[in-house]
Amino acid sequence: GEVERVNIERLINTAVLWAGRTKQHRVDIQIEVEPDLWISGNEGQLHQVIVNLVENAIDAMRSTELPRLVVTAARQGGEVLFRIADNGPGIDKDHLSHIFEPFFTTKRVGEGTGLGLWISYGIVREHGGELSATTEPQGGATFSFALPAA
Ligand code: ADP
Ligand code: MG
Repeated sequence: GEVERVNIERLINTAVLWAGRTKQHRVDIQIEVEPDLWISGNEGQLHQVIVNLVENAIDAMRSTELPRLVVTAARQGGEVLFRIADNGPGIDKDHLSHIFEPFFTTKRVGEGTGLGLWISYGIVREHGGELSATTEPQGGATFSFALPAA
């Protein structure tokens, strides 16, 4: 797709709003983004990545008592580091190596295609980063990636 200068604050605020609109349950969402951070890339594709990650997090926290999502973007050297962290049940250890494969889903038919993370992984890679996931034994999943700052 087309490459443009993308403002990270606008990208994240827009995508989090969008993802929260399609999902109805109440989640405490905290956004921590440094102002005046830019990358060079395709804004529509990057929007899709953040929307996918936030929708997954909200889905995962469906039965979480105090669902909390923290989205951060911060400069780290010459890169912008993105983190999307939830306090849901986390990712099953046996699933962790499969979640980026096409059609891998733990959702019921009609609720998930298993394509979101696969597509997101490809978009992040095309932008010069690598999408990765970590999960905590006490619960919660964190997705992160770093892209070159512009
Ligand atoms: P889908 O959302 O359609 O299932 P994705 O590719 O977006 O497909 O995600 C694949 C799978 O990864 C999900 O079905 C779920 O099992 C797991 N997953 C993704 N994000 C999270 C998360 N934040 N917490 C727990 N599991 C997750
Ligand atoms: Mg998904």
